[in-house]
Amino acid sequence: MEHHYDDNCIFCKIIKGDIPSYTVYEDDNVKAFLDISQGTPGHTLVIPKTHVPDLFAYDEELAQTVFAKIPEIARAVKAFDPKITGMNLLNNNGTVAYQSVFHSHFHLVPRYTDQDDFRMIFKDNSANYDAAKLTAIADQIKAQF
Ligand code: 5GP
Ligand code: ZN
Repeated sequence: MEHHYDDNCIFCKIIKGDIPSYTVYEDDNVKAFLDISQGTPGHTLVIPKTHVPDLFAYDEELAQTVFAKIPEIARAVKAFDPKITGMNLLNNNGTVAYQSVFHSHFHLVPRYTDQDDFRMIFKDNSANYDAAKLTAIADQIKAQF
């Protein structure tokens, strides 16, 4: 895998060791470290060790390299505390989608109870869609490949 860095990127600085981080896993291509916000205890970020702004910029090789490590890292984070009963895997792309650091990253958010400090809201809009509408959307997306 090719590695290149963006001098102005905070996660590239973390990769190079210019900014300290609490690393939980590292190999030649992937790094996992504690998210400074600790949304819930153990909140971890998984990043490629090359500057990629977001998911849209991944090629298959990079995806294989990064995604392949996520389950193993998720298991290790889960295992650190027996009170962790679930985990959200989150990847924000674009400001509108709450991305604030433009070096692609995957959040592992350990879940303890439904009253812990993580929330996610999906509105159920299914009543507004019929088969024709869903088919039209699916066909438009299919045409983009
Ligand atoms: P995003 O909002 O882009 O999906 O997530 C960016 C995350 O990076 C945030 O959860 C934020 O807490 C975390 N973060 C920002 N700066 C730093 C930093 O310097 N060190 C660490 N460990 N995390 C950071
Ligand atoms: Zn970067």
